[in-house]
Amino acid sequence: MPDQPLPVIAVLATGGTIAGAQADATSAGYKAGSFSVGDLLAAVPQLAGLADIRAEQVANVGSQNMTHDVWRALAQRVDALCADASVAGIVITHGTDTLEETAYFLSLVIRHDKPVVLVGAMRPATALGAEGPANLYNAVALARHPDARGRGPLVVMNEDVHYAREIQKIASAGINAFASPNRGRAGVMHGGAPYFYSRNTTTHTTQSEFSLALLEKSGWPRVDIVYAHANLQADVIAFIAGQADGIVLAGVGDGNATDLAVDALTRAAADGVAVVRSSRTGSGFVARDVELDDAALGFAAARDLNPQKARILLMLALCVTREPAAVQRYFDRY
Ligand code: GLU
Repeated sequence: MPDQPLPVIAVLATGGTIAGAQADATSAGYKAGSFSVGDLLAAVPQLAGLADIRAEQVANVGSQNMTHDVWRALAQRVDALCADASVAGIVITHGTDTLEETAYFLSLVIRHDKPVVLVGAMRPATALGAEGPANLYNAVALARHPDARGRGPLVVMNEDVHYAREIQKIASAGINAFASPNRGRAGVMHGGAPYFYSRNTTTHTTQSEFSLALLEKSGWPRVDIVYAHANLQADVIAFIAGQADGIVLAGVGDGNATDLAVDALTRAAADGVAVVRSSRTGSGFVARDVELDDAALGFAAARDLNPQKARILLMLALCVTREPAAVQRYFDRY
């Protein structure tokens, strides 16, 4: 009997530490996005037994420089590859700093159920014990696996599998830098196969009403984040309200801020700027009307979405509405 052809997996590279180079294998300093996608794949010859890889370099940046332009290019390529019946799954290599944002963005604008797996590494490709090759192997193994379908974009790091909405970078260094603090990780990779612990019950991909076309039509509404702290003043908020369509408050505790800041946000909301309260704490839930009267102030509450992901959902919601109650309904649903 002839061998079954290997599934085709598209690998879209965007840069990051997984493609980073140091001056020597033990130095802390390095340059993200130094190696090409061809170099990354050559470091994992075992991939040849897993998939027929088609590689593309979409960008080669440290993901602190991730832009909406790269998101546009990435979403267009993912969309086209999802529509291509010869492709079984898609892997995106990415810097770890904003990996969770790209994953969440794609989960809302890609309306297909084909596996899309994002992967990065905390150690540069030249480091002793670089984990990028193992992560990339797991990402390809996951992207070709039937159980990965219909779950929205997934992230694989350090043998853990995460849902795009839940994953968060929780440490600035170390290979155990990712967690899904509220709902827990989606599963694990073991021996090149995924074992899922939970279904993704949130709204994503095939249920999402958002799209790249909607964003383009609306000109990508501008949403900025205000980080709350003791003694936060009003002027910074007034300045941002002058430029932005929406503001996400990375609030203290349950999405709170000084009276001065809340007053400034209330004025911004009255002027038509959408205001969403999230939390800087890294986990937990920001509910409506706990310490603040959201209905009276014209705010929405981000529930368990972190500020950087609330920024993305608000940007998309603002393509449809600026009305606070309608914005809240998006945060209740997604
Ligand atoms: N700052 C770089 C980035 O996000 C390196 C961090 C990493 O990839 O681990 O691309």
